[in-house]
Amino acid sequence: MQVELPREKIQCSNFVNGKWVQGTGEKFSIKSPYHGEVIGESFQSTASDVQKAVDFASKAQVLWAQTPIKERSKVMFQFRNILMRDIDAISHLKSAESGKTFAEGKAGLMKGIEVLEYALSLQNLDLGGRLEVSRGVSCEYRREPLGVVASITPFNFPAMVPMWTIPIALTLGNAYVWKPSDKTPLTSVKIANALHEAGLPEGLLTVLQGGQETVEAIIDHPKVQAVGFVGSTKIAKAVYQRGTQLGKRVLALGGAKNHIVLLPDANTELSGTGISDSFTGCAGQRCMAASVLLAVGDCQAHINKIVERASRMKLGTEMGAIITAAQVEFLKAAIDRAEKAGVKVLLDGRKTPAPKGMEKGNWIGPTILDCVTKGSEAATLELFGPVLSIIHCPDISSAMEIENSVPYGNACSVFTSNGALAERVISSASTGMVGVNVGVPVPREPFSFGGINASKFGHGDITGQHSLDFWSNLKKVTVKWEKQNDNNWMS
Ligand code: NAD
Repeated sequence: MQVELPREKIQCSNFVNGKWVQGTGEKFSIKSPYHGEVIGESFQSTASDVQKAVDFASKAQVLWAQTPIKERSKVMFQFRNILMRDIDAISHLKSAESGKTFAEGKAGLMKGIEVLEYALSLQNLDLGGRLEVSRGVSCEYRREPLGVVASITPFNFPAMVPMWTIPIALTLGNAYVWKPSDKTPLTSVKIANALHEAGLPEGLLTVLQGGQETVEAIIDHPKVQAVGFVGSTKIAKAVYQRGTQLGKRVLALGGAKNHIVLLPDANTELSGTGISDSFTGCAGQRCMAASVLLAVGDCQAHINKIVERASRMKLGTEMGAIITAAQVEFLKAAIDRAEKAGVKVLLDGRKTPAPKGMEKGNWIGPTILDCVTKGSEAATLELFGPVLSIIHCPDISSAMEIENSVPYGNACSVFTSNGALAERVISSASTGMVGVNVGVPVPREPFSFGGINASKFGHGDITGQHSLDFWSNLKKVTVKWEKQNDNNWMS
């Protein structure tokens, strides 16, 4: 299905205490990567906007924390119903602002809804626990919200990444302050309206539009207890350092350079499709996209399949657009540099024509670089576009040496039909997520999402069981009501 682009400019404000109010900073516009035209407008939020909004959030959170989890979950059930009702409209909008195809937009939202479903299960599963630890003495776990928590999200998943944290943080009793990407803020209007319609009390979801100034004011606000961040490694590190210096809890997910180890015994159909779709999906603008193919031994038949499938990708319907014109220029310049350095361009997306009527959009076709050398720019820099660099390796050990040498640690996959060889890659990969014959090894709920090394600053994962400890405190309660007669230090 073709993405429907908004016909009129969307006004995108801040959502504060249940109302849409304009930020008092500078105006900025949002262009669709599809045709390069302005589809929305917003205003930066200043430190004073942040101050007022967090004060409302903090007041609202007190009552929410006293609301039983089953009541909080009722709002989340309703939120899910509304998202499912509006799924097509939200998917069109998020695709229009981020450049995704409609199918990718919808898949991202569905993955976000999976996290929401996980949050819905907490009322039945996250029971804490109580045990009589000595005669007449019991110990008990109680999960308590932190208060006001914040989240800063990237352009490439305008709904999925926020939905990794919104349902869990709210269900646990927090007030949630969200700073969407200033490149793709429009989806936040739909999500905030859905939560409002679902009956979320005013002040519990705050949306603040803006960039660096807004982010820094949010982190610095004394009432913001925890900060979740997803974006590039440079900013993730800066956010982590700023927050932790203030003694706050921060989990900051960063960028990636993901490897696929291809062995000659791999099923050519599985690997051709899996690897091609991994580097071209979302036009390569995914932190889980394949970026480097480590071809061990003779994998020519597999490489031919990958090239053949990628070369058939139709821009606009099967592969989406790049977020900005500047990013297209950056990608083309990186390909030029690699070519000058001696790399063979097996598939050249630099001159792929834009879809008809979208010539002013940000387009580049799938590109495959062969005979890339280890340590080179094409082998190590996160390009964030539909570019696959192939490095030929004599054996698995040399392939894993290359994989291990890159500072990032998000994902690594292996394509093989040999379980023992797959296990070698699984156990030696320096990443938080590994796939076998899967090009994009994103764990499905309830398995958690998160990388290691320069792909994540902070401890634990952003979804799943471990995220509960990030968005809440565990209170340990030890109770005795009567003096016991046995001879025990607790009696
Ligand atoms: P980005 O780092 O430029 O922006 C992320 C967020 O930080 C946005 O909300 C942005 O407005 C804000 N921001 C930008 N500059 C800032 C500054 N100087 N100080 C404070 N905040 C600032 O990232 P992006 O371009 O939006 O997203 C792409 C990047 O995100 C890629 O590197 C990709 O790998 C990464 N990413 C990682 C994951 C993951 O799970 N590890 C998921 C999605 C995207």
